[in-house]
Amino acid sequence: ACLGLEGQENKEIELEIFLPDELKHFQLATGMQAKSLVKGRFTLKAKNYAELIDAPFELAEQTRFSFEANGIPHEFVVSGKHAMNAARMQQDIEKICATEISMFGSAPFTDYTFMTMATGNSYGGLEHPNSTSLISPRDDLPKANEPEEPSKDYQRFLGLCSHEYFHSWLVKFIRPENFVNYDLNREGYTSLLWIFEGFTSYYDDLILLRSGVINQESYIALLKAQIDRYLQNPGRAIQSVSESSFDAWVKFYRQDENSNNAGTSYYNKGCLVALCLDLGLRLRGSSLDALMRR
Ligand SMILES: [Zn+2]
Repeated sequence: ACLGLEGQENKEIELEIFLPDELKHFQLATGMQAKSLVKGRFTLKAKNYAELIDAPFELAEQTRFSFEANGIPHEFVVSGKHAMNAARMQQDIEKICATEISMFGSAPFTDYTFMTMATGNSYGGLEHPNSTSLISPRDDLPKANEPEEPSKDYQRFLGLCSHEYFHSWLVKFIRPENFVNYDLNREGYTSLLWIFEGFTSYYDDLILLRSGVINQESYIALLKAQIDRYLQNPGRAIQSVSESSFDAWVKFYRQDENSNNAGTSYYNKGCLVALCLDLGLRLRGSSLDALMRR
């Protein structure tokens, strides 16, 4: 949480961080403009309050590497206990980023930072305009002897990276109208999460295939898992994807034992809507890619 000053939301913000002596060796990762002239002291800058609260920063002992995708500098940062094969990670993430930038033709950022916290079995991610904050089981990171075709665990992590990165375009750049100027005093409702999360869920695995990071057989298995999940969800006949989107605050993020009977997932069903739409467009000589680029 970041406290805000009412009436000063548009002012430039500078954030100074001083680390205590015992933590001075910590490194910083963030999408914000940052500099450090003295060890253990960092100055971060945000253009306004909206930029500040949409750019997390992490201070930790980190494993990191840098690379360029279509000329854009990227940082990949991992913290927590892990034994990631960094060379393999870099090889695959470079392909994923380049494939997504090429698909859209350009990127809505001038630099990008992946921040991953390796844990026992927590999983999740959150998108930001030029960064993402990921939580992943350490076993999902590529191993020293990772086979050429990524393990199911590693595929899951690659899918998470691909998903959150895709959100820089779809959610952060292309977004529902009432997400343009958030009213932070109340929940923001939209019936369109099936597009924003569903289409992103369709593309996250598809990008892995297109970038050559996984093969066709693995991709079909991932698609099959989505279809199986859909068929095992009785709630799909009761709740539409737009209702599921609108009720996200009170239902999707408050799952109970009856959720699968009474509701559907705008991620899962939205992904399959995207698949059907793409196939339909392709039969008519166009594609969902063409629609996304418009
Ligand atoms: Zn998402």
